Amino acid sequence: MTINQTLQKDLVQALAVLAGDTPARLRFSEPMDRHTSFRIGGLADAFFEPASIQEIDQALSFCKRHQIPCTIIGNGSNLLVSDLGIRGLVLAVGDSLSGIERQDNTLLVMAGTRLAALAAFAARQELTGLEFASGIPGTLGGAIQMNAGAYDGCMQDVVRQTQYLDEDLNCRYMTGEEHQFSYRHSVFSDRSTVILRAHLELNPGTYAAITARINDLAERRRQSQPLELPSAGSVFKRPPGFYAGKLISDCQLKGLCIGDAQVSEKHAGFIVNRGAATARDVRRLIEHIQAVVSAQTGVRLEPEIKCIGDWPA
Ligand SMILES: Cc1cc2nc3c(=O)[nH]c(=O)nc-3n(C[C@H](O)[C@H](O)[C@H](O)COP(=O)(O)OP(=O)(O)OC[C@H]3O[C@@H](n4cnc5c(N)ncnc54)[C@H](O)[C@@H]3O)c2cc1C
Repeated sequence: MTINQTLQKDLVQALAVLAGDTPARLRFSEPMDRHTSFRIGGLADAFFEPASIQEIDQALSFCKRHQIPCTIIGNGSNLLVSDLGIRGLVLAVGDSLSGIERQDNTLLVMAGTRLAALAAFAARQELTGLEFASGIPGTLGGAIQMNAGAYDGCMQDVVRQTQYLDEDLNCRYMTGEEHQFSYRHSVFSDRSTVILRAHLELNPGTYAAITARINDLAERRRQSQPLELPSAGSVFKRPPGFYAGKLISDCQLKGLCIGDAQVSEKHAGFIVNRGAATARDVRRLIEHIQAVVSAQTGVRLEPEIKCIGDWPA
């Protein structure tokens, strides 16, 4: 069901009960290219940035009641949003729902907190274990959902407990192995749940050593990744025994363009938006890469980025 004008009014009212400034955080016909690191995406029928768990609950209950589809996003850094946009409500768990508290060596972190801010906070607190996350441009919620990782670390190493809303909007907790973390996957990857906050366990370290490590990793990223152009990071998961970027490069696909979408010259595992790329351009480039790599090497590349929204049949 799309959100007609009556439903728009009802939704504004339902959310305004909770916070006086709700309309500013609730917008209609919102361009999704403002909310993705690719700078690509059509209009979302409605877009809401909740500032409390109660607001998430309220928004999701409304959608359930009116059979409106709801899409959860974080910082949009692992997403390809269709040019046709997203029907229903987009719930963006981001800056409005961020915050960090320390209890001994554990950090209690809200899902919308950005990983860079989190890693910087941990460094100031002289807690080590989150340096790997400092250059990943996502939120805690998005990172737990897909067990984001870089260099020698991933979320699995630090997440001890996660609070989330299940499919029936019950608030629940997941602990330790229940997360079923594996490479770029967690139990949340297969479920329509909303991650709300998490307990991360770190170890004592020194500010100097932690920041030295963060600076070193940032420099390695600057050297190897096309950070100057919009992208969604590595497009494909690492196939067992191979590196996606090397396979793509070996197939002479570096620099290949479809429209304004280009296989990065700097890192063939990235597709970059050279200015006016459409989601269709990116999707066609992904399919072309998959076909060429499969034909030349026999390896099937599986996308890491998530395609969301309304795609043409
Ligand atoms: C330049 C660049 C470098 C990158 N480097 C890395 C890297 O080194 N390692 C890596 O793993 N990734 C990397 N990424 C990809 C991306 O930053 C991560 O996947 C990140 O974890 C996505 O978080 P997000 O908040 O942006 O989530 P989004 O992209 O908004 O969403 C991703 C998925 O998470 C879900 N989600 C988001 N928030 C929640 C929530 N609160 N509850 C439930 N589900 C939620 C969404 O529904 C969606 O399925 C990179 C991206 C860029 C642009």
